Amino acid sequence: MKLTIGHLYPDLLNLYGDQGNIRCLQKRLQWRGIEAQVQSLTSDSAIDFTKLDLVLLGGGSDREQELACRFLSGQKEAFRDYAEHGGTVLAVCGGYQLLGNYYQTGDMLLEGLGILDIYTKWESKRLVGNIILNSSLTFSSRPVVGFENHGGRTYIGNHTPFGQVISGCGNTEASGYEGVVCKNIIGTYLHGPLLPKNPEICDYLLERSLKQKYGASQTLGTLPDRLEHLANSDIVKRFTPRKFFFFPSLSKSKREKS
Ligand code: GLN
Repeated sequence: MKLTIGHLYPDLLNLYGDQGNIRCLQKRLQWRGIEAQVQSLTSDSAIDFTKLDLVLLGGGSDREQELACRFLSGQKEAFRDYAEHGGTVLAVCGGYQLLGNYYQTGDMLLEGLGILDIYTKWESKRLVGNIILNSSLTFSSRPVVGFENHGGRTYIGNHTPFGQVISGCGNTEASGYEGVVCKNIIGTYLHGPLLPKNPEICDYLLERSLKQKYGASQTLGTLPDRLEHLANSDIVKRFTPRKFFFFPSLSKSKREKS
């Protein structure tokens, strides 16, 4: 078996170690004897979405995001088609904002890909720091941890959030929710990089891709993940407010989010 991972615009969208997500995807496939091919699709590349099994978009500054948006405008239909038909996508921060309808800053309006029915508005106070979520995508009670740094506030309407914020801000400081999960897409503000510290999220994406390509019966076995879990729990211990030490479960998948 083989999965092809498309890393979109690593020359533009590459903040806070987002490249580490690619390494994590690759390694966790290799450890299971599954071939992992990575296509590094820089802004001058022609992208054939029909050849990709998993797409990763990282974060970028507003300027880089504007450039990425310009390059992606020619690929809009193909990307939308890929995502609508079950293609797996991880989009982080600037990449997450690009999946929406628009990103509005003080002086520009960037039209997004319209893959998710969300929008983002910039505010001058940046939301920066470590962030901890309770997500229904991690099958254990282990929280999702990461780092956020964004001026955008994302309004996700009726979409299902990626997680409930235990510590940090997420989509907006007021909503209490972070990111979006829709079909086989995760959009999130979590850098970190996200996947090495949250191996269950990495495996969620890989399993979705395998099922999409090779059929619903495909599953991934577990890996020991001792170091990954230590890294995760260290952050949880340092940044979880005491009142949340017993994590509430995100029982309702759809809630009022923003
Ligand atoms: N430019 C976006 C913002 O500040 C995204 C930043 C990022 O990717 N970290 O909201």
